[in-house]
Amino acid sequence: MSNLRIFAVNRKKISSLHYFNNMCSSKIRASLKRVKLHVLLGRNYSSLPGLIGNDIKSLHSIISPPIAKIRNIGIMAHIDAGKTTTTERILYYSGYTRSLGDVDDGDTVTDFMAQERERGITIQSAAVTFDWKGYRINLIDTPGHVDFTLEVERCLRVLDGAVAVFDASAGVEVKNIAKVKAQTLTVWRQADKHKVPRICFLNKMDKTGASFNYAVESIREKLKAKPLLLQLPIGEGKAFKGVVDVVGKEKLLWNPNSDDGKDFERKPLLETRDPKLLKETTEARNALIEQVADLDDEFADLVLGEFSENFDLLPAEKLQTAIHRVTLAQTAVPVLCGSALKNKGVQPLLDAVTLYLPSPEERNCEFLQWYKGDLCALAFKVLHDKQRGPLVFMRIYSGMLKPQTAIHNINGNCTERISRLLLPFADQHIEIPLLTAGNIALTVGLKHTATGDTVVSSESSALAASRRARREGAKKQKGNSEAERLLLAGVEIPEPVFFCTIEPPSMAKQPDLDHALKCLQREDPSLKVKLDPDSGQTILCGMGELHIEIIHDRIKREYGLETYLGPLQVAYREAILNSVHATDTLDRTLGDKRHLVTVELEAKPMETSSLLPVIEYAASVSGDLSQASREAFENGVHSACLQGPLLGSPVQDLAVTLHSLVIHPGTSTTMISACVSRCLQKVWKCPNPFCCNCDCGFHCIHFISLPSKG
Ligand code: GDP
Ligand code: MG
Repeated sequence: MSNLRIFAVNRKKISSLHYFNNMCSSKIRASLKRVKLHVLLGRNYSSLPGLIGNDIKSLHSIISPPIAKIRNIGIMAHIDAGKTTTTERILYYSGYTRSLGDVDDGDTVTDFMAQERERGITIQSAAVTFDWKGYRINLIDTPGHVDFTLEVERCLRVLDGAVAVFDASAGVEVKNIAKVKAQTLTVWRQADKHKVPRICFLNKMDKTGASFNYAVESIREKLKAKPLLLQLPIGEGKAFKGVVDVVGKEKLLWNPNSDDGKDFERKPLLETRDPKLLKETTEARNALIEQVADLDDEFADLVLGEFSENFDLLPAEKLQTAIHRVTLAQTAVPVLCGSALKNKGVQPLLDAVTLYLPSPEERNCEFLQWYKGDLCALAFKVLHDKQRGPLVFMRIYSGMLKPQTAIHNINGNCTERISRLLLPFADQHIEIPLLTAGNIALTVGLKHTATGDTVVSSESSALAASRRARREGAKKQKGNSEAERLLLAGVEIPEPVFFCTIEPPSMAKQPDLDHALKCLQREDPSLKVKLDPDSGQTILCGMGELHIEIIHDRIKREYGLETYLGPLQVAYREAILNSVHATDTLDRTLGDKRHLVTVELEAKPMETSSLLPVIEYAASVSGDLSQASREAFENGVHSACLQGPLLGSPVQDLAVTLHSLVIHPGTSTTMISACVSRCLQKVWKCPNPFCCNCDCGFHCIHFISLPSKG
């Protein structure tokens, strides 16, 4: 019985893969059928208002909207909840598209990559800019597929708020498939981690089996969030006609004859017309007021003072302001409902985005004070455009971006030039002369800036900010270095789960393949490319089968290279199960030199996951070990961890403590490393739990069988 366990890096991903593959292949089949049926029609885009006829006044409002009127939001949810359909409706009602896109027809604006249109899923998030009732909304459509979690993380980092879309006929996607629940929870937790205020949109209210109450309950139970019911549905399933606005006590009914949902009426609820609905709404409103008062002291004072006798007299605006504060504090989430597909409920959702989600200045960014209005921006996405080279999406936190100017990249410690500045509008980009804080811009000309880099106006500006940060840090006695504090937190890049070999059609095409992979990697840091030292083959490592398949597809479409993929393999890891105490002696004479070293160490499993081994020194050795011997010891540990004994996969979650290292004078550091490595090889082979009875040559201290994390 072996002392090692073997497992895949991310088990959840693998177990859910089967489900996703099934889901995706049925989508692919359906879309292939569609592609045969019709050729994609070009979409109609309307120009940005103000860019026609050189209208300077409106041009100014386009490039520098007041910061209080900016909303940087994302739409997040599980695959199939209706994010893309909702985004399409939003773009249509805001006036930026003239016809409604349909994921089922493969002609949506945000799913603009050819694969996305064919597969009907959103792979690469696209930023879209539009205006709604005097507000500037930068919307980022995030993918829901588990293979693309990095995209979601990347976007959440730069959002000020998010709309979480749920399928109201499936609650928090828990009814049928437990694995799906994990993904919904993952996205929700990612938003928690980045402290993104949210509102929930219960979509698909028209679908048979849709249940508002069930969906609300599952938000409460599964996501442990406090739902604030701002709307009630009028009818469910086929009978779904509209919604009641609980805050304003109005009913919103969509004209059943309108085919785009633009035509709807908003009417106050009256005792004479809708006594039952009015009663339900009044109860819901009173409950909402009490709930908000519980969470917000300022509102509680107001309610208990002036309006304690009659909540009906409380103006809607006061309630809205309090809901805004509660949403920002993330103590509760406003809940709305509708049906994106049937064009109901999307306009009130947009109103809610402007009313309840925060503007950039309401978000607490400590580092802004250090820049004193100088440029500070975060590169959160890189796209590779064949004609224009790398396009870098930036969130501007302070100062402004201008084309034809230099910027300094703090992470890369390099200065480079922005040639052009664009406003991203799905696959259309509009050239602009400047962009101010709070906005999302697309820059052309940056060759070295990659995802997660912090960008400032110059090195001296970075130094000045760093001085201010240091002064502030000294006051607050914070531990982290000023350089660290200057960097906006980057995005954690997950370890690849799957890998396979990739081959160009001929050896002559290898440089082209290398170039394509380099560009794709800059866009997508979760894609890793390695060279197999034995075979010389290029290895593609990704987050899942679909991820690798999409990369393969993109190399063909975008770089014109037909490549061949080897069989897909799981990136396994190996880990030790029990603590093992081991010693080894290496005695070798090379030429006239004797190399003699004896090592005594303990290897034990770690509770927390760590790719690199944690190396410790027992008190007895830590004092009298030279730096060279320390390095030799650590090299030995690292090289032993490269290959485990079971499948030759890397060993992880390991802690190694050195108890003694006796070195004969003249022994080379290479020999020390070799001895340490050999000692650990013995540890790998230590049988469990019979070790103390075996003759493996070392002593085992205990045999607690840890539950396998796999
Ligand atoms: P995404 O994966 O979250 O982007 O979801 P999509 O927007 O691609 O939608 C997934 C499927 O659900 C598509 O077949 C849509 O037509 C369908 N869908 C989206 N919204 C609704 C809705 O409000 N009602 C119904 N019945 N179906 C919807
Ligand atoms: Mg989508």
